Amino acid sequence: MELSSLLNRFSEPETLRMAKLGRELRAKGLDIVDLSLGEPDFDTPEHIKEAAKKAIDDNWSHYTPVAGFLDLREAVCHKLQRDNNLQYKPENIVVSTGAKQSLANAVLSLVDTDDEVIIPTPFWVTYSALVQLAGGKVKLIKTELENGYKITPEELEAAITARTKLFMFSSPCNPSGAVYNGEELNALAEVFSRHPQVAIISDEIYEYINYSGRHYSIAGHEELKDRVIIINGLSKGFAMTGWRLGYMAAPVEIAKACDKLQGQFTSGTNAVTQRAAITALTAPLDATHKMVEEFVKRRKRVMELMHGIEGFRFAEPDGAFYAFPCVDSYFGKKDGDDLIRNADDLSMYLLNKGHVSTVTGAAFGDDHCIRISFANSLPNIEKGFERIKTALERLK
Ligand code: PMP
Repeated sequence: MELSSLLNRFSEPETLRMAKLGRELRAKGLDIVDLSLGEPDFDTPEHIKEAAKKAIDDNWSHYTPVAGFLDLREAVCHKLQRDNNLQYKPENIVVSTGAKQSLANAVLSLVDTDDEVIIPTPFWVTYSALVQLAGGKVKLIKTELENGYKITPEELEAAITARTKLFMFSSPCNPSGAVYNGEELNALAEVFSRHPQVAIISDEIYEYINYSGRHYSIAGHEELKDRVIIINGLSKGFAMTGWRLGYMAAPVEIAKACDKLQGQFTSGTNAVTQRAAITALTAPLDATHKMVEEFVKRRKRVMELMHGIEGFRFAEPDGAFYAFPCVDSYFGKKDGDDLIRNADDLSMYLLNKGHVSTVTGAAFGDDHCIRISFANSLPNIEKGFERIKTALERLK
């Protein structure tokens, strides 16, 4: 059977591939410490689970409106006002099966063949795959460790051309943990205001997992609001990755286009999840704050452990739950037959010889780094780092 050429435009996410490889080794009886995880290792808060149980009992079991229940879209508007001081109407909101689908909707609604899409590296794996799927041209801008992995206004200005259709970024960023503050977003907004043809996807899924104090959204810039698409969801902030609910807040025209697209792909997401999401988005955020307190402790410990590893160069993450060290000082080194040529080799070496799973930075457009997740318990983090250290010390 000949499969479609569409499939050749992109590859399987490296994050999922690493999780799969780790599972395979574990199935063979090996004790693998998983520091590749892209999801909180916490349970969904009780009040949200209760809302879902009630929704089942109340028979929320039918097809839902494609863009989501009206009262859920109102709850999203409430959240955007409460947390971000942003005013949206339900007609601006499209609820999807995860932020991943919201991103897919947005990219497929905007990007035509050969349109340029600017993505600062490192970036979340799926961004470039979606652009390639849409037939667009990915234009990567390499950000520097010295700038905290944030794009500067000058770099942005230099990258924009008349064919630039879209700019995509996440803040807090997966994988670097970079968080743009208000001033930095002001400077980028000023550049965008000179280029009205550029739409902006602002992926804010790690909004609550922020160690720098405050979350800023570029949608707060009134002059850009007619071309900013906010992407967010329940996966990270509420520990609900498996529930599959994401949403976008976008100009009406874009929201309508996404509604049309989603109407042919998946229709509205799970009814029970949607009812529970209303509770998640309108109830106090105590459970989220408690989870973040735990991430704060782990981040502190992870930074101490990273300083103890020879040759790692890194910026402290201001958000999300990843460390993203540059590991190129190990390139060219060997342990027996294992030669480390790049980040892929190092990540595979750590898995096969150290029994710790991480993700190669190549998956995020930076082949000098690896991503180490701290969405795992402190004892597992300690154990994982001990193994990383021992494995790296064997490289000569
Ligand atoms: N954006 C970023 C930056 C992410 O890291 C992820 C999940 N790893 C997503 C979007 C997708 O989240 P969801 O589970 O809502 O599809």
